[in-house]
Amino acid sequence: MSPSRPPQHVVIVGGGSAGWMTANLLMHQWRERGVRITLIESSEIGTIGVGEGSTPFLRDFFRHLGISEQDWMPACNATFKCGIRFPNWSTVPGYASYVHPFFNQEDLAIGSQFFTNACLRRRGTAADANPQDFFIAAELARQGKAPLYAPQHGGPSNPGTDYAYHFDAGLLGQFLKAHAESLGVRHQVGTVAEVNRHENGDIAALRLHDGTVLAGDFFVDCSGFKGLLINETLGEPFVSYQDNLFNDRAIAIPTALDPAAPLPSETVSTALTCGWAWKIPLSSRFGNGYVYASQFISDDQAEAELRQHLGPAADGQTARRLKMRVGRVEQHWRNNCLAIGLSQGFIEPLEATALMLIQFSVQCFVESLEQAEFSRRNQAAYNRRINQMFEGVRDYVVAHYHLNTRQDTAYWQANRAHGRISDRLASILEVWDRGGDFEAELTRHGNALMYFRPSWYCLLAGMGRFPATLQPPRLGHVPLSALQARKETAGIAGRFQDHRAGLAQGLSLA
Ligand SMILES: Cc1cc2nc3c(=O)[nH]c(=O)nc-3n(C[C@H](O)[C@H](O)[C@H](O)COP(=O)(O)OP(=O)(O)OC[C@H]3O[C@@H](n4cnc5c(N)ncnc54)[C@H](O)[C@@H]3O)c2cc1C
Repeated sequence: MSPSRPPQHVVIVGGGSAGWMTANLLMHQWRERGVRITLIESSEIGTIGVGEGSTPFLRDFFRHLGISEQDWMPACNATFKCGIRFPNWSTVPGYASYVHPFFNQEDLAIGSQFFTNACLRRRGTAADANPQDFFIAAELARQGKAPLYAPQHGGPSNPGTDYAYHFDAGLLGQFLKAHAESLGVRHQVGTVAEVNRHENGDIAALRLHDGTVLAGDFFVDCSGFKGLLINETLGEPFVSYQDNLFNDRAIAIPTALDPAAPLPSETVSTALTCGWAWKIPLSSRFGNGYVYASQFISDDQAEAELRQHLGPAADGQTARRLKMRVGRVEQHWRNNCLAIGLSQGFIEPLEATALMLIQFSVQCFVESLEQAEFSRRNQAAYNRRINQMFEGVRDYVVAHYHLNTRQDTAYWQANRAHGRISDRLASILEVWDRGGDFEAELTRHGNALMYFRPSWYCLLAGMGRFPATLQPPRLGHVPLSALQARKETAGIAGRFQDHRAGLAQGLSLA
């Protein structure tokens, strides 16, 4: 590949979300430059078929491609997501459930009180500090509202509320496929049987089961957990995260929506005995599942527990059982091959970060090619950057497990006790616990953190990570109470649009 020139024929293996997101991003970027892109997808090997929640960065993905919410959301049964609620992770009184909200300009008044209260409380002063009481997004979710103003309050404008989406993963794949094809991506159905390589180790061509040979000068491995090109062909080592992220299995069971009930606008991630259960509202149904650790619970026990958790809604619904490979490859870009999606790695879905990592990985790749001369050095820099992203997300996810206070099962006790957390996470927790300068501590880690100040505060305070003994507040400095904060956020949330009605009216921003 010559300096600053994209490859001329890119071959993508895999037609899951990773393959189609990559095809769209690369074609959008390079189609004016005569680049050809072929995506090969097996009709015998299915896609993972789950992955129904996003982070707010998916908004940038669609904006970048020029696709409006009106276009893609109805086609994918999508809903708005104001944050994630975490019931039963903590046993600290007052903290049995908390929220990781997306943030809002209107939070500047009440939300900022949350940070003050959390700081008081971690330094030993009594103050309410559960984020679910202080943030507009949490109240929107409680009221079944979309993160957009109602028409009578100037809607569908948005007062700077960050938000994300829930969607049907299969429909998203179909939507992205159609868009990629409209940009000129060629879709070929076939199963790769053999990979031919040049003498220098680069991939030269793929031979399909039907004998077709497909040559290319750059290959993207979107083949899912097996890593057909990156692991099986190039032999890239896999760095497992299983020593501090125990969950390696999932069971998914859809349930029906109640058309008469408000449509929720949050993901609920409830801790169960050996993992956690997701509940994701789409416009057509709920997606549910249990993410668990096979060393602590059998598949049959996990399915029984999930069915009990879901109640009669799960009766007669078929369960899908999935295995997860949790960790990342050492190098995501090696020779003339880039691994994207589950082939490059996966951090279990607690914070719904996988599509965000796909998006960042492709965008960074394009920048690496376009900003600098192609060299081994910028390939190494790319791999370091992506590894840093994975480690940044991993630390934040690991913190959820490490901070749990449940005593009921060996699973939760082991998650708290194993001690195999990164030095960075250990340092963040140490500064929080001793009441040190938390802002300075987060700043010190800079880009290595994938989650910033509000998210860390919500997690640590939300779990009730505070000293056991508390002093009353100083006279004249009474912190804002949860009751008062709720009253004020409820008033603001009242100006927002009902979620179900908003979707039905095609209410969206872009
Ligand atoms: C339980 C669970 C929950 C998740 N929840 C979320 C979430 O909430 N949010 C989120 O962002 N992500 C989530 N994810 C991750 C998300 O599902 C994936 O990151 C995303 O779907 C991308 O998958 P993929 O395209 O890499 O792989 P896959 O969907 O597995 O696709 C692999 C593709 O490769 C093709 N293929 C394989 N071998 C060959 C071959 N030999 N020849 C030709 N083609 C081949 C297959 O046909 C298929 O098209 C979750 C994952 C799991 C397991």
